[in-house]
Amino acid sequence: MKDIIDKVLPNPAHKALAKFNVPVITMNIDGLHKKAGSKDLIEIHGNLENVYCPKCKNVYDFNVVRKSIKCPHCNLVLETNVVLYGDQIAKYEDAINLIRSADELLVIGTSFYTSTSSNMVHIANLYGVKVTIINKKAEEKVPIYLNELLNRNKVN
Ligand SMILES: [Zn+2]
Repeated sequence: MKDIIDKVLPNPAHKALAKFNVPVITMNIDGLHKKAGSKDLIEIHGNLENVYCPKCKNVYDFNVVRKSIKCPHCNLVLETNVVLYGDQIAKYEDAINLIRSADELLVIGTSFYTSTSSNMVHIANLYGVKVTIINKKAEEKVPIYLNELLNRNKVN
């Protein structure tokens, strides 16, 4: 998976969100929002950039596991920060606070297969945050939507 992730590039939707400095909450672990240049980014399911030792807490570049999956310092099996089924989402509260403070929540390219994305929509509704869902052809529609939104704001 890491080999594939390292080769893929951000699509026009990733790039548009970065270009317009739209804060991003992503459930993807592919790092494409960071590659696109998004700065205000919450990767709620983690990423595959680094691994860490659960004992000494040393953090290593992910590629260290290509040589050994054990910590060079204390020989324990290294872990990723990827959230798996049953794990707690460490950054969930940050995501909720971002949604609560937003004018609008764009839900882009989600299947709503996990409850995480559905819950975020419910939270937005609870706090009166407008919700816009862009799923089909998101990589084409998001840049157009953001351009239109920017132009609308310039007029007002
Ligand atoms: Zn260690």
